[in-house]
Amino acid sequence: MSNYPTCPLCEAGQLHEQTEETMVEYHGQKAALNSYFAVCDACGAEQASADQVRRNKRAMIAFKKTVDGLLTGIEVRALREKLSINQIQAARVFGGGPVAFSKYESDDVAQSEAMDKLLRLAEAVPAAFAHLAEQAGVSLGRASVTDRWMSANWQSETDVIPVRRPPHLRLVSTSSPEPENTRRYA
Ligand SMILES: [Zn+2]
Repeated sequence: MSNYPTCPLCEAGQLHEQTEETMVEYHGQKAALNSYFAVCDACGAEQASADQVRRNKRAMIAFKKTVDGLLTGIEVRALREKLSINQIQAARVFGGGPVAFSKYESDDVAQSEAMDKLLRLAEAVPAAFAHLAEQAGVSLGRASVTDRWMSANWQSETDVIPVRRPPHLRLVSTSSPEPENTRRYA
């Protein structure tokens, strides 16, 4: 058996991941981002799995954060780890809901400008952070291992979404079987 997923359009070929540099523009700033998709070796259809769509979205959101002057996902994580709190504790201290920091740190969503300022304030002024933590009933100590476990385990879309396809092929319905290697998050 092959490791490549079967094409859901022709059900004969296999999908091979490819990367293409795509120019994007946001608020007048341009960047070349890698976009991920798969090409069928039988019918030639190009499509993106849920995982590929997610990676493409994350790259775009990370770029937008940079343009907007917001902390990127990597920077939010570094800041939070410097404060020695896990993602759950961070949400209790700063708000945003239980999966907020998982989403900020993986660039699934951009934090608000207000949240961004709050995080920078907490880093710059230890007394402000201590106050917020006390208000939230979060005792400051080591971050738990739950943190790393959480970030890889939140639910997202799983449908295969064709992005480009030859004109004679019809759009695959969302109930079609997804490729074997499409990652699921339980
Ligand atoms: Zn195909």
